[in-house]
Amino acid sequence: MEMDMSRLPDIGNNAASRRRFLYCACQGLLKHAVPAQCGGYGDRFTDLVSAHEALGKACKDTGLLLSINAHIWGALFPILNYGTIRQRSIYLQNLISSQWVGGHAITEIQAGSDLKALTMTAEYTPEGFLLNGRKRFITNTPIADLLVVYARLDNKLSAFIVHNNDEDANFLDFPQVSGCQSATMGDVMLENCLIPHSRQLGKTGSGNIMIQQALELERAFIFAGFCGVMDWQLDNVIRFSRERKINGAHLGKNQAISHKIADMKLRLDTIRLWVNECARLKDNNKRITLASAQTKLFAGEAFLQSSLDAVQILGSSSLTIDNAMAGLVSDALGSRLFSGSSEIQKNIIAALLGTGEGYK
Ligand SMILES: Cc1cc2nc3c(=O)[nH]c(=O)nc-3n(C[C@H](O)[C@H](O)[C@H](O)COP(=O)(O)OP(=O)(O)OC[C@H]3O[C@@H](n4cnc5c(N)ncnc54)[C@H](O)[C@@H]3O)c2cc1C
Repeated sequence: MEMDMSRLPDIGNNAASRRRFLYCACQGLLKHAVPAQCGGYGDRFTDLVSAHEALGKACKDTGLLLSINAHIWGALFPILNYGTIRQRSIYLQNLISSQWVGGHAITEIQAGSDLKALTMTAEYTPEGFLLNGRKRFITNTPIADLLVVYARLDNKLSAFIVHNNDEDANFLDFPQVSGCQSATMGDVMLENCLIPHSRQLGKTGSGNIMIQQALELERAFIFAGFCGVMDWQLDNVIRFSRERKINGAHLGKNQAISHKIADMKLRLDTIRLWVNECARLKDNNKRITLASAQTKLFAGEAFLQSSLDAVQILGSSSLTIDNAMAGLVSDALGSRLFSGSSEIQKNIIAALLGTGEGYK
């Protein structure tokens, strides 16, 4: 994929993020693994993985990758899988072309990993659903046209499509986090926000399963693009280890350095294998609950270790302000938390093995 982001004008942060996102949409990036009858390419998840890795390598922008994944797995696929015919006809074409940006709002100030602690409410009224509550750390909020928002209707977790121009819906652009900075993020405040009945997505009470499915896909595939970034990270480290002279020899001649590089390569290729295994399973209509948790757990930890190794090998020059290589350490810290933290992935894996906290 050709990505010449430098030709895009330098505008405000949010506007630039939205423009980068829509530029990728224009290139057809959001059409992979979407059935042809819904306007997609009708190709495989394996094709999606290749396209995302190519994007990662070309743009080296983890924020853009996060933004694209939040849109695809948080809004596009839930509407594809759970939308009514009418909802699919209204939203899908706009979400796969270069029209609308979406995302999903699950996390709240007092509730991250613990879905049982979510408190946003939805109340049925004859005019529509009345939503009340506040979401936090929602990727794409400042640039989103719509978000799939999870709230309790009759105490049952359910999903609703909220538009940024709905009255009494506030899509804020704070607080931000230090990782994946080019992805916009913020709180979603809904205060007596009335939305039409037609914007309930899925059935009342299907919120839990919808969240699990969205997060499974996000966990499985978000690192496809990050592999592209890690490939660039590794190339840089190898080049530096050859060019930097220490005691008259190239830096990589030191085994302490070359072994770190070998470990980085092994981690990168292992993430690739895991992501492609998830794609293979999806392409064969198999479940990915275990594989996606394993992928996310391994990839998040591996990305952090490789980012720490890269900074150590490149030395202080990689720590200059705004250096992309040092920035990857913050990105990796975020990657161990988003889509469910490393600890939560371990809980899922242990529960699937018939043990641990999640086993009932
Ligand atoms: C870059 C980024 C993008 C994000 N984008 C979105 C988004 O688009 N939409 C959205 O809804 N949310 C988003 N989030 C929020 C993210 O999903 C939450 O941060 C995540 O679920 C963890 O919740 P928390 O931060 O509240 O931590 P908590 O749940 O409070 O956990 C704190 C710590 O305790 C550990 N812990 C919690 N429970 C257990 C347990 N049972 N066993 C062992 N350890 C446990 C956690 O692993 C963590 O280390 C994003 C976060 C980041 C960093």
